[in-house]
Amino acid sequence: MKRAYLTAIFILIIAVPYKILATEKSRITILATGGTIAGTAESASQASYIPGVISIDEIIASVPGLNNVAELNGIQVCNISSQNITPHIWLKLHTIIDSLFSNNLSDGIVITHGTDTMEETAYFLNLTVKHKRPIVLTGSMRPSSSLSADGPFNLFNAVSLASSTEASGKGVMVIMNDIILSADDVTKSHTVNTNAFSCPNFGPLGYMRDGKALFYRKVETKHTFNSEFNISKNTKLPQVEIAYSYAFSSGLLIKALINSGVEGIVIAGVGHGNYNREYAAEMERGYGKGIRFVRSARVFRGGVDKAAEEYEPKHPVSGIKSPQKARILLMLALTKSNDSNEIQRLFDQY
Ligand code: GLU
Repeated sequence: MKRAYLTAIFILIIAVPYKILATEKSRITILATGGTIAGTAESASQASYIPGVISIDEIIASVPGLNNVAELNGIQVCNISSQNITPHIWLKLHTIIDSLFSNNLSDGIVITHGTDTMEETAYFLNLTVKHKRPIVLTGSMRPSSSLSADGPFNLFNAVSLASSTEASGKGVMVIMNDIILSADDVTKSHTVNTNAFSCPNFGPLGYMRDGKALFYRKVETKHTFNSEFNISKNTKLPQVEIAYSYAFSSGLLIKALINSGVEGIVIAGVGHGNYNREYAAEMERGYGKGIRFVRSARVFRGGVDKAAEEYEPKHPVSGIKSPQKARILLMLALTKSNDSNEIQRLFDQY
């Protein structure tokens, strides 16, 4: 009798919470924006296709059992190729995510996105969404109609990652080809292969195996929950462009940018963020007109620090941020200040 009583207590203590845990799924919202993951081709083996065709419901239906991984809610934000992304879509994503998290309506976010500018949307959200809950971007390199489409497995991994407790507080992540990549360093580094993404400076954060997240490194830059950027009231973002540097660059492009009234210019410099005399003269003129410059590098790895060949302190350096990421950080920095020292502080911390 006593034994039966103890067994009943044991079952109550162990089995009931286990049952609750086993059935309590994370609430994951999938925000669909388009890209190849929503693309279709005329035949299953053809390389050319049209991105942004199928809907979020069709994408979810392409992953058998995805509803067993999490409680899913799909929202079609837009259905575009990501080269056509706009500040309006970024601000819309920010508003949706902020309101879902602030009102405790979602435990994690997955964004399906074209791969071309995925790293930029990821970095923008990494700097502006002030929450710890997971935000994961994914996409695909092959369209949904392909013989071995990579989208369904990428989506399965993304939903699994966004549901995992270990993903909390890690900042915005990209998952492609089983690799978990941090928004601070991720870049598209192959134009067509399914293994198209890498973190050239710091390597992957971890991997997905059997729907489980295995993390191997930490993110040291400031992001998400400890970001100081407040854009919830912004309806637009400062205009910042990128000026590419190359052998005997004429200065024509940078001159045109300065005359057009942009607020900031990132230099995609040669080597360790260098540029020629024509650029230097134009930058001097632009700085006098209130335009702020950041020196970045067209070189894939290593970044730009202050130990530069001709260090000019009034032009902040990007650190390891690529020109396209430096552009986003400069846009956000300019919402706060156009003081060069303050801009440099932000580049040192984020
Ligand atoms: N250019 C399209 C885009 O970025 C398709 C590329 C892709 O998603 O892989 O949306």
